[in-house]
Amino acid sequence: MNNTEERPQSPVGAHVPVAGGMATKGLAYAEKIGAETVQVFVSNPRGWATNGGDPAQDALMRERADLPVFVHAPYLINPGTPSEETAAKSITSMEHALRRSAQIGALGAVMHTGSAVSGTREEGLARARERLLPMLERLGEDVPPLLLEPMAGQGQVLCATVDDLVPYFEALDWHPNVGVCLDTAHLFAAGHDISTVEGMRQALDRFGEVVGADRLKLIHGNDSKAPCGSNKDRHENIGRGHIGAEPFAELFRHPVTAGIPITLETPGPEGPHAEDVATLKKLRAQA
Ligand SMILES: [Zn+2]
Repeated sequence: MNNTEERPQSPVGAHVPVAGGMATKGLAYAEKIGAETVQVFVSNPRGWATNGGDPAQDALMRERADLPVFVHAPYLINPGTPSEETAAKSITSMEHALRRSAQIGALGAVMHTGSAVSGTREEGLARARERLLPMLERLGEDVPPLLLEPMAGQGQVLCATVDDLVPYFEALDWHPNVGVCLDTAHLFAAGHDISTVEGMRQALDRFGEVVGADRLKLIHGNDSKAPCGSNKDRHENIGRGHIGAEPFAELFRHPVTAGIPITLETPGPEGPHAEDVATLKKLRAQA
């Protein structure tokens, strides 16, 4: 590209394991694979239990101003559920993820946008509004943004495509402390054909038009084992799936993704992760 202005370049990293110490284990893993940004869980991603964390590890995380950190909230969270019990647990869990994000200096906490389970999407969005807005108001600016991650599109999901983000944001009154995490594998499964550079560009153009670049805070960079439009959430290593490596180069050129961290959630462990990080860095160098 023939830019005279400096485009802020996206750091590349991965979701890192934290068992045995978020900073001591997680950051060592990051270094091994060449990560410039990381995502972590702050509690069991498949459970409701919260976890107070370790103040010494938290401090070590906060010290790494050079390394953007993000939190992924548990998968069970669903603000659209008709079950009051699941809703209450979801809000407790999400609030925990946001508060822990603040404690470790994370830049946002990612939440899957959820499902209506039964009934219409409108009913699910109305329920998401009832549950999320009071939480966002209560937490105010004490926490980093809640990042909405559109899903692959299975069942009665509330949000899968770029355009689905609009009614979701409307339901939340475009709350200022809400951002977006776009997952390339989810977008592809939801029907955005990003298996070409042009397709990736169109999806990002559309995001800029209907949501706005200022809301994008994170990209989950994943190739997809499942075909376009399959509604199946199956991550694959970069270049080995149906998206292919080349379209990822557009993430380093498009204005909507300028400076936005790219985090892999591809099959590990270290070997394949290091390879994926290297592939993205190579694409970045050529962009
Ligand atoms: Zn993801």
